[in-house]
Amino acid sequence: MATVVTSATIMCPECGTQTREQMPTDACQFFFTCPSCAARLRPLPGDCCVFCSYADAVCPPKQTGDSVCG
Ligand SMILES: [Zn+2]
Repeated sequence: MATVVTSATIMCPECGTQTREQMPTDACQFFFTCPSCAARLRPLPGDCCVFCSYADAVCPPKQTGDSVCG
């Protein structure tokens, strides 16, 4: 059984602020608002959630191989 990382550091592409966030284990988080510059982050094309695009860990569903988010 693999260890699932449930928190990740997400980095805002607009201002570079890094924020430690808890990731939902059963869903993908599609939006993230930067607490510093209020930029609204969305997943990059081909990614299922903002963590996959901007954080240092992919989302839990992807870690476990759950296919709900591709
Ligand atoms: Zn920002």
